[in-house]
Amino acid sequence: MRALVEATEPDRLLRQDVCYLGDGPPGYTVGRVVLVGDAAHAMLPTIGRGAPSALEDAVCVGRLIAGPIGNGADPVAAPGAFDRVRRPRWRFLARQAIRIARNGFELGPGPRQAVRNAVLRMVPAGLAMFAGTRVTGWIPPDAGTA
Ligand SMILES: Cc1cc2nc3c(=O)[nH]c(=O)nc-3n(C[C@H](O)[C@H](O)[C@H](O)COP(=O)(O)OP(=O)(O)OC[C@H]3O[C@@H](n4cnc5c(N)ncnc54)[C@H](O)[C@@H]3O)c2cc1C
Repeated sequence: MRALVEATEPDRLLRQDVCYLGDGPPGYTVGRVVLVGDAAHAMLPTIGRGAPSALEDAVCVGRLIAGPIGNGADPVAAPGAFDRVRRPRWRFLARQAIRIARNGFELGPGPRQAVRNAVLRMVPAGLAMFAGTRVTGWIPPDAGTA
């Protein structure tokens, strides 16, 4: 990689910094305004959940805000349920992404990478899949129970 970068003219290099929001802003809704997707919870790419969680938000806007308002709910109060339901999920994913970055991706040169690889090889596939379902599995909330 270093040789490739050094052999490339500077004006042909594209640098993309990775920006993320950590726990995000204190509130995801203000009156009728609702922050969704990266605007609310841009997270590290280490768990690949940016796009799916933006889609989860879209489903929740429909189920928890648009649906109830269509049935006569208060347009200012309805977004509160969205914030309450989505925040724990966002926080969990964002913190997992940071944890995986620190313990998996950002180990730097040296023996820590070899230790990581050895430990990962010992984890049974079934256990790894089970652990992953907390990240990948998601059940859309119901407006009645939110
Ligand atoms: C290089 C890269 C690789 C990625 N790989 C993955 C991956 O493998 N898996 C994954 O899950 N996620 C991945 N992501 C993250 C994923 O792309 C984002 O989390 C996801 O696109 C967020 O969706 P969004 O709708 O919130 O925002 P965006 O997709 O950024 O959409 C926002 C839209 O708003 C528009 N916009 C901005 N300002 C204004 C304005 N003032 N007026 C009108 N329109 C405006 C923008 O042009 C854009 O079209 C990757 C991101 C990058 C950059």
